[in-house]
Amino acid sequence: MTMVTDPGRQRKADPGYPEVCTVFAYYSALAPQMLDQVAEECRTACIGCVQDKKRLAEILIETLAPLQERRRQFATQEGLLEKVVAQGNQKARTAARETLSLVREAMSLPDFDKSGVLLA
Ligand code: SF4
Repeated sequence: MTMVTDPGRQRKADPGYPEVCTVFAYYSALAPQMLDQVAEECRTACIGCVQDKKRLAEILIETLAPLQERRRQFATQEGLLEKVVAQGNQKARTAARETLSLVREAMSLPDFDKSGVLLA
C-alpha cells in the first residue's frame, strides 16, 4: 500500500498518468490483459490509487498462491532440493565437458581426463 504511484495525482478526482506509476508497471507483469482497462480508469479518474492497489494486491496473491503451495510441498520432502541441485550439477557438468571438448577440438588444444592425464 505504500508503493509510489503517479506523483502528480494528488486527489482521487485528478486524472492520472499510468506511464509513470509503479502500480501500473506491476500490472504489465501480473495482468497484462488489464492494462488498457487500468490505463483508462486511471486517466479518467474512475478509480483511486488505494482501490487500484487493493485490486493489484488480490491479483498478486492469486498469482503467488500456486507457487507458495508448490514451495510448501517441496519443503515437506526432505532431501528433495539437494537431490534436484545434484541432478542440475551433473547436467551442467556434462554439458560443460561436451562444450569444452568441442572448443579444444576446434582450437587443436590437448584434452585431459579428470585426473589431469593427457588424453590421446
Ligand atoms: S490509478 Fe492505478 S495506475 Fe493510476 S496512478 Fe493510481 S495506482 Fe497508478
